Amino acid sequence: MKIIPLGGLGEIGKNMMVVEYNDQILVIDAGIAFPSEINTTPGFGVADTKYLSDKKDMIQAVLITHGHEDHIGGLPYFLNQFQVPVYSTPLTKNFIDFKLGGKNRHNLFRVNFYESYKLGEFEFQFFPVCHSIPDSAGILIKTEVASLVHTGDFKFDDKPTIGDPINTKYLSSLSSKKNLILCSDSTYAEKPGYTDSESVLNANLEVIIKNAQGRVLIATFSSLLSRVQQVINISSKLNRKVVVVGRSMIRNLNFALDAGYVLDPKSTVISLKESTNLNDDEIVLITTGAQGEVNSAMGLISTMRHNDVQIQRGDTVVISSSPIPGNEVRYSHMINNIFRQGGDVVYQNISLVHVHGHGSRNDLQRMINLVNPKYFIPIHGETRHLVAHAKLAENSGVAAQNIFLIEDGCTVEIKEEKASLGTKVPSGTTYLKD
Ligand SMILES: [Zn+2]
Ligand SMILES: [Zn+2]
Repeated sequence: MKIIPLGGLGEIGKNMMVVEYNDQILVIDAGIAFPSEINTTPGFGVADTKYLSDKKDMIQAVLITHGHEDHIGGLPYFLNQFQVPVYSTPLTKNFIDFKLGGKNRHNLFRVNFYESYKLGEFEFQFFPVCHSIPDSAGILIKTEVASLVHTGDFKFDDKPTIGDPINTKYLSSLSSKKNLILCSDSTYAEKPGYTDSESVLNANLEVIIKNAQGRVLIATFSSLLSRVQQVINISSKLNRKVVVVGRSMIRNLNFALDAGYVLDPKSTVISLKESTNLNDDEIVLITTGAQGEVNSAMGLISTMRHNDVQIQRGDTVVISSSPIPGNEVRYSHMINNIFRQGGDVVYQNISLVHVHGHGSRNDLQRMINLVNPKYFIPIHGETRHLVAHAKLAENSGVAAQNIFLIEDGCTVEIKEEKASLGTKVPSGTTYLKD
């Protein structure tokens, strides 16, 4: 069995991994690269798939871990080249359906957690993980020679706002599998401790909304639906209505409400138009643009360019995010601009109003201990994150010669008795126009 990452190792983004056995292939994720300061090529980047170009008939399917752009953003391009079925959890399928534009020429399959699916020589199962978008999954792939656990992006959250905690019994039950390989998310491998649970924000957000004299505006990520659920619950309790501003968030929320991932039993969510009859202290606006993106809802509001929403004196504005590396300057400008217009801004340096979606060192160690793999490959991260994670695995008892610190295009070959590095394959970034 061969494991060949084509994206996401040695960089953050454009995740893609090839799993190959007996001339058959499964691909995990097909993401896009985030723009960066080093890489200023226009358009967006996807993993170079030259390696697969003469192996079209070998590809059985693409398995998608979750609905973030760095995991699904490259699918339209990938499926144009390779007409293969796509497997994902139900909410992730909704995001993919939307992305592909409703053209039904693709085979999209909805999986159930823990159910076994057989394709050729592979058997695979999706299992739930906690992350910053609902319905996120890790994937177990089994072949005759070895089994692979791919965590996707994850953290442990023992009190998640949406969904269940990670099933630790299930993870530890995998440890008996033959030649078990763990590929685990390294994004926060430098960060000590555990990542906080989503639920630690409840008390803080409630105090902020309760004490606000006027409107409350909360900016966050459009796919961070657990945060939206928290805001709905707290607002409902405090007799405020919630208005969602920003197209992508309205769309995502509708997917999640329809599929029952987000609940609004008291019809707390109303339209912007309906809110015009309410007093300021009866309104919470939740918006996109928590990174200060120029044309996002909060980006427009903070620079007085939004058609319907203006900051007014008495507004409390919560920035429920932390800046993604590269966005710090824009993020800071946004906060300054809102203060200037008379809003009172609450953000991460002032109060705990955001928690991350990736596991910190203790979470990562917990994953390694539970799965107890024979082989370990740190994935999803820049080189320094992968190195930190590899060291952590060694300290957690994985044999040093069984840890593969690799980057895109490397091959790890697993045989009955041992695993070793194989040949390098073409890899890199293909740039597409928007
Ligand atoms: Zn993610
Ligand atoms: Zn990711």
